[in-house]
Amino acid sequence: MKIIVIPGDGIGPETMAACDEVLSAVSQKFQLGLELEHAIAGHESLKSLGATVTTELLEKVKNSDGLMLGPMATYDFKDESKGEINPSMFFRKKLDLFANIRPAKTYPGIAKRTASDFDLIVLRENTEGFYADRNVESGGSEMLITPDVVISLRRITRQCCERIAKSAFELAKNRKKHVTIVHKANVLKIGDGMFIDICRETAKAYPDIKVDDLIVDAMMAHAVRAPEKFDVIVTTNMFGDILSDLTAELSGSLGLAGTLNAGAHYAMGQAAHGSAPDIAGQNIANPLSQIISAAMLLEWHGQRKGLAQFKLAAQAIEETAVHLMQTAQVTPDVGGHLKTDSTALAFVKHLLSR
Ligand code: ATP
Repeated sequence: MKIIVIPGDGIGPETMAACDEVLSAVSQKFQLGLELEHAIAGHESLKSLGATVTTELLEKVKNSDGLMLGPMATYDFKDESKGEINPSMFFRKKLDLFANIRPAKTYPGIAKRTASDFDLIVLRENTEGFYADRNVESGGSEMLITPDVVISLRRITRQCCERIAKSAFELAKNRKKHVTIVHKANVLKIGDGMFIDICRETAKAYPDIKVDDLIVDAMMAHAVRAPEKFDVIVTTNMFGDILSDLTAELSGSLGLAGTLNAGAHYAMGQAAHGSAPDIAGQNIANPLSQIISAAMLLEWHGQRKGLAQFKLAAQAIEETAVHLMQTAQVTPDVGGHLKTDSTALAFVKHLLSR
């Protein structure tokens, strides 16, 4: 399996270095034959190549078996004509990575921010919605009407609703068999109305899966009050972005939140958090989100290619992460005293000794 590894901005180089070590170790232990090829995107690429991402890089990724993308300083990238392209958007759009899968669960040894333990997935549509940079072939779907008036358009299509709905039920099939549709159909009557209708229509092919729906504002209250009631939560792009940060933080820290961006042909592992400039360069960032994202990418590859050892490798990473948390070998954001690099060392040591 050839993986393109892009460290990214802010804490990215630190967390991706840790992830690299884990991937090398798991490859050795499970004989995965991983080939890690490093590349640049974001500020480093803007400085040396004149653009945050390039078409050469896209080709490289298309010719690989997966991408590990570090966090990107997307807020800094404002003007595409100056090469400031949002790399997350670029790969999600160009590789059609329509499903953004964000698990959030509590772990023994980690102080959760909720009364009960939970294990859920926020499944977020990734290619349209309220994301102005994703909705149109060129340009954006935000318009400056007068210096004081802006219109931002949201795109919702039948095809994107259908494929994300199917992904939700496929995920729930192997979990607790419960899908919750999150929407704002009381206000966005046509777009979210269609989203709900398609999810409910899709549900007919999965009669043993329970389906319910919640309005997004009420969902926030329910997520804080009783997150254990949820299994797979399927929603449109922006709602999923916001909700998944909440559920990650409820589980203990954003630093624990892994993500897989998956499409029909490509996948990209990417921590759910951003570049965290407030803690960059201090060697205190939690690398587990990046490492858990890598495990999700390995599992995706194994499932696609029918390679059982990739699933075993992903499980070993997950179990090692749990062991580190149980034994308090973690970074300060989750109550530990380890640095980013020493967390990687402890991780590899336990992984290889299992
Ligand atoms: P960006 O502009 O790139 O989105 P941000 O700081 O606005 O960056 P995040 O990077 O998501 O947004 O960070 C939100 C908060 O969570 C910050 O306080 C950050 O320090 C913390 N955080 C994010 N990732 C981690 C991590 N891996 N380990 C520890 N803390 C983290």
